Amino acid sequence: MKTKLLGKNSEELSALCKEVGLKPFVGRQLSDWLYAKRVADWDRMVNISKASKQVLQDHFELGVSAPVASALSSDGTAKYLFAVSDTESVESVVIPDEDRRTLCVSSQAGCRMGCRFCMTGRQGWHGNLDVADILNQFLSIPDPLSLSNAVFMGMGEPLDNYEAVSKAIAVLTAPDGFGWSPKRITLSTIGVLPVLKRFLDEERCHLAVSLHNPFPDERLDMMPVQKAWPLEDVVSLLKQYDFSGQRRVSFEYTMFAGWNDDKRHADALIRLLGGLECRVNLIRFHKIPDFPYDCSPEVRMEEFKNRLNNHGVVCTIRASRGEDILAACGMLAGQHSR
Ligand code: SF4
Repeated sequence: MKTKLLGKNSEELSALCKEVGLKPFVGRQLSDWLYAKRVADWDRMVNISKASKQVLQDHFELGVSAPVASALSSDGTAKYLFAVSDTESVESVVIPDEDRRTLCVSSQAGCRMGCRFCMTGRQGWHGNLDVADILNQFLSIPDPLSLSNAVFMGMGEPLDNYEAVSKAIAVLTAPDGFGWSPKRITLSTIGVLPVLKRFLDEERCHLAVSLHNPFPDERLDMMPVQKAWPLEDVVSLLKQYDFSGQRRVSFEYTMFAGWNDDKRHADALIRLLGGLECRVNLIRFHKIPDFPYDCSPEVRMEEFKNRLNNHGVVCTIRASRGEDILAACGMLAGQHSR
């Protein structure tokens, strides 16, 4: 298998060029095409000579591949299916919103975290994406230069594939990479504690934590991760970091009727998050097959939100996008046998 060029930084690309007898500046040209111009097509890389391209193609592959399918929602949200191996595919979602165009990125084929309410979790884990597979989602959608933000909130738990995810973030934020500010990127996790600490120490991106229930026993019933890395420990860790400046932390709270939407849940949440500069996003649950709970009624969500806001915890109800094409939160399933 040939080495993929996508995901290598400018220095690494130059070193690879040198290895195959080319001038190191060809590596910088490659980096400029792939990351600054977001052009992933040899024919359009017009300042690289034909002979150099031939040498590169003999030894390497770009690592880009077009989506194998796509769907467009009535609200403008678009979903793309990418093949990441002969048998595995992942989905990415592009969400347009006023002047923003946000990419919801996948980091794994399936997921091993097993959250009961999530279609991806039900699949089990089918492999990690490599850095090229992750960045390909940024490059191979239509009009990649117009993307303004990214959320690692698609299929998989990004902190369970941190090596590839952190490498992708490095390319996205390097001045000679995409040149993005870390503020344009949010990583969403259920709280893989040891890796979360590393992420907090190493990165300056925003963080979103999937919370869903403040009571340990009830959360365990929803999310097996609670056993290994209890939410209380995750929140204690977060309280050691400063989120009052550039970097923000938010908590995702999917609302299930009769499972986690009671006043006592709101009050426990207020106690748990007290003293932490944060925001809680309430998410409408989108019904999935063979699952006993429905989304909380709208009035219940409003009450829950108001209770939090009235007690000093900033809370909003997140607009749901792309439900008609199964692109909303918790609905991504990819296709794991094509
Ligand atoms: Fe994995 Fe996230 Fe789904 Fe949980 S909610 S199973 S962590 S993809």
